[in-house]
Amino acid sequence: MKTSSVRLKSQLMHESEECYLENHSNNDPEEEPPGKHSISTDLEEEPPGKTATTRYRFFRDIPDNIWDDWKWQFRNRITNIERLAQFIPLSAEEQAQLKLVTMRYPLSVTPYYLSLINPDDPDDPIRKQAIPSALEMTMSSMGVEDPLGEKTDTVVPGLVHRYPDRVLMVLTDICPMLCRHCTRKREWRNGGWVQSPAEVETMLNYIGQHEAIRDVIISGGDPLTLSTHRLEDIISRIREIRHIEIIRIGTRFPVVLPQRIDKELCTMLANYGPIWLNTHFNHIREITPEAAEACDRLLRSGVPVNNQSVLLRGINDSIKAQTELCHGLLKIKVRPYYLFQCDEVQGTEHLRTPVEAGIKIIEGMRGHTSGLAVPTFVIDLPQGGGKVPVQPNYILAQTESELLLRNYEGRIFRYRNPTSSACPESPAEVLCPADSTTASLPQNQVPIQVRRSSK
Ligand code: SF4
Repeated sequence: MKTSSVRLKSQLMHESEECYLENHSNNDPEEEPPGKHSISTDLEEEPPGKTATTRYRFFRDIPDNIWDDWKWQFRNRITNIERLAQFIPLSAEEQAQLKLVTMRYPLSVTPYYLSLINPDDPDDPIRKQAIPSALEMTMSSMGVEDPLGEKTDTVVPGLVHRYPDRVLMVLTDICPMLCRHCTRKREWRNGGWVQSPAEVETMLNYIGQHEAIRDVIISGGDPLTLSTHRLEDIISRIREIRHIEIIRIGTRFPVVLPQRIDKELCTMLANYGPIWLNTHFNHIREITPEAAEACDRLLRSGVPVNNQSVLLRGINDSIKAQTELCHGLLKIKVRPYYLFQCDEVQGTEHLRTPVEAGIKIIEGMRGHTSGLAVPTFVIDLPQGGGKVPVQPNYILAQTESELLLRNYEGRIFRYRNPTSSACPESPAEVLCPADSTTASLPQNQVPIQVRRSSK
């Protein structure tokens, strides 16, 4: 399937002759030697008002105009362990282990995202998303390569048609950062491809011939890896198909390389709406001024931004972490949309949490903060079963005529079900135990002590 695709990755990675960082290389003998002791803990040089990151520790020689150039960031991704060790303290043994890991699951992290990591904290939640772990190999027997069965639903190369009215266009396998929890980790070994114009044409023909399709999701890899010009070619062609109502773009660029969301891109997107953008913040520390500005540019261009986070062990698997994240998202006008149970992908088992953890988090948020801040917790079922919302159980008992519901405080309420005329009473608060009326719900045959609410 990929043999006719355009080999791009190596080309992109070797475009760096004029690369500033290479001219100011960390291998420059005038620089401090790499390793643990070269990493200063002094952040006092950071200009006030800037993101609290290590940019000014590791990249202080990079002027703003170069730092803000997304192509520079892309060309200068950290892709090998030797270079990583110039920023993150790694023992010789750790380096040897991680080199083995990257032979199977490569490394790629942008200087921008690297600068969000606290290099002195092995448990840093940003680090765990970007830096390989030996556990990717030691637990790799657990899980499967393609848990969602995307290959089965692929109708023409790169086009997944699972639901009648939606299709997924996978345009590339290249991402600016390789997230350690990625569902498409299986694609990383394929060496970096972009669908050729002929392959895109085949996808467009399929979409044009199936009038039930009203929603096209452009994804990858990360589709914003393509040039704005190439993206416009594809998006404008999709817009010419009369039965397509909306286009969605799935991208992590606002999080890992927000500089990509530039004026040129936003102006282009504004011409082809309605376009929705789904991104992937997992932790409050990813919501930097740069990320906020990127989302703001999208919103001002008429592109609504939703967030799909993944529940990850030791990264965001607490009520506090999720609440902070979702409050932070609302402040930058990004809607918390989905919280995904981490898929059972080979090489991600160490980051997966029990399903109960997600349910408890939603339970700890629902009612304690605005409903707008509470994402829908979903499991994407294996073998293409689709997304299933998994929620705390608020229905304690139910008959045709009434329900017993508990609220976020644990108080229990009786609620008359209007589909039946059997229960003429208005909602009542149920107190257990109580000393007045006794009622029962026949389905469960459990006597319930009730008292009319004083409200
Ligand atoms: S951006 Fe998305 S597709 Fe790319 S590595 Fe991260 S999770 Fe995977």
